[in-house]
Amino acid sequence: MAGLLGGDDDTNQPTTKRTKGSNADSMRTLSVEDLKDLGGGDHTCTEEIHVNNDCFELYKEMQKNRRWFHQNPEIAFEEVETAAYIVACLKSIGIEDKDIWTEIGVTGVVAMIYGEKKGESTCIMLRADMDALSIQESSSADYASKNSDRMHACGHDGHMSALLGAAKVCFNNKNKFHGCIKLCFQPAEEGRHGAPAMIKDGILEGQAAGLRCGGPRVDACYGIHLWSFERLGGIQCSEGPVMAASDRFTIEVKGKGGHGAVPHQSKDAIVAAASVVTSLQSIVSRNVDPLEAGVVTCGTINGGFGYNIIADKVTISGTARAFSKNTQEIIKSRMGAICCGLQEAYGGSNTLDYEYGYPPTVNAYPDCVKNVQRTGDKVVGPKRSSLPQKTMGAEDFSYFLEERPGCFFFVGAAKRGEILPHHKSVFDFDERALLISSSMFVELVYDLLS
Ligand SMILES: [Zn+2]
Ligand SMILES: [Zn+2]
Repeated sequence: MAGLLGGDDDTNQPTTKRTKGSNADSMRTLSVEDLKDLGGGDHTCTEEIHVNNDCFELYKEMQKNRRWFHQNPEIAFEEVETAAYIVACLKSIGIEDKDIWTEIGVTGVVAMIYGEKKGESTCIMLRADMDALSIQESSSADYASKNSDRMHACGHDGHMSALLGAAKVCFNNKNKFHGCIKLCFQPAEEGRHGAPAMIKDGILEGQAAGLRCGGPRVDACYGIHLWSFERLGGIQCSEGPVMAASDRFTIEVKGKGGHGAVPHQSKDAIVAAASVVTSLQSIVSRNVDPLEAGVVTCGTINGGFGYNIIADKVTISGTARAFSKNTQEIIKSRMGAICCGLQEAYGGSNTLDYEYGYPPTVNAYPDCVKNVQRTGDKVVGPKRSSLPQKTMGAEDFSYFLEERPGCFFFVGAAKRGEILPHHKSVFDFDERALLISSSMFVELVYDLLS
């Protein structure tokens, strides 16, 4: 495993001959052409970027690590090999055992890097999620998944690799910052609540809480998501909600079965269920403030036995999304009222099982958003550091942001050509985004802690 960590082979380092100048002592300017020289061919970046010089030197290593993660994907709370690989990388960087905690939130890994500069003892948490999805990869990449029905189809392989790269750079430059960095490798982001599991094990409180995780109390937290819908060189970072609350509901519509020819002696669950589905669509259009956003999607509907039989039961399941708790509660309560009212109208019995998922991911601290935007100004330039982005997708970084100030932002990683959407079997991202992601982490640390 250690042999896969990379970084020792100088012949693998990217060419530097065409890089031009630097805009700060730690930065290196890369033109559109320079980016091409890194391999990977044409890309979606249209203007020069400025990456951290040490991150640039680690590009091949980050790429190698990313590909190892990509080839060896593990799903939620099964990230055992992934965690072992991360620990091996952290140790190879020079982080001591006493500053590494494993099995935080079941399979998560936490590590500390302490700055050596004099100053405040602020603790910044940087987070990368670790889990893959239960998808059979259909890409033809030579680093495609080796595990059947397992795939890094969301970019978490890139998050881990970029954070490991940033960790190495920060560890080797401890004299450049004060305070400390808590590295958070979080399991089970994909719907399985890995973040609250880590919080329960004390990642935010640190050793004072007497829980599994040591290190200082976290003061602020930052997280990224590589984003295949945004071109390379774009950073989407904005105030307010950026990802939605994601809830799940199941409605059982019970009637009374009978012969299709004698409807008056039965209670038709299919007619009642059709009315439920239609009425649910009135919630967003008639109850939610038009300036807010919400989604009610019925994803499945099942019931009935045969063409001439009146169904006695229909089950509907779906998802509800909202950017605020207020909208979330409106959706839930109207759903209950509709189920209740239509039960009365159709004479059967309706039950609603509403399950809360992740809360909305809200960048509620303008100062933290500005910190990221300022760092983004240096890396990709002011025109591309604060692009707006809101998606009805969900993200459990929301739990960290409920507990601490911080910011969650998106790093553009679209490959040239067709957009390869997240959670699809053909997903991939432009690996050159690793340079931008790791540079954002490192420069954020330098900016915040110096
Ligand atoms: Zn995902
Ligand atoms: Zn993801």
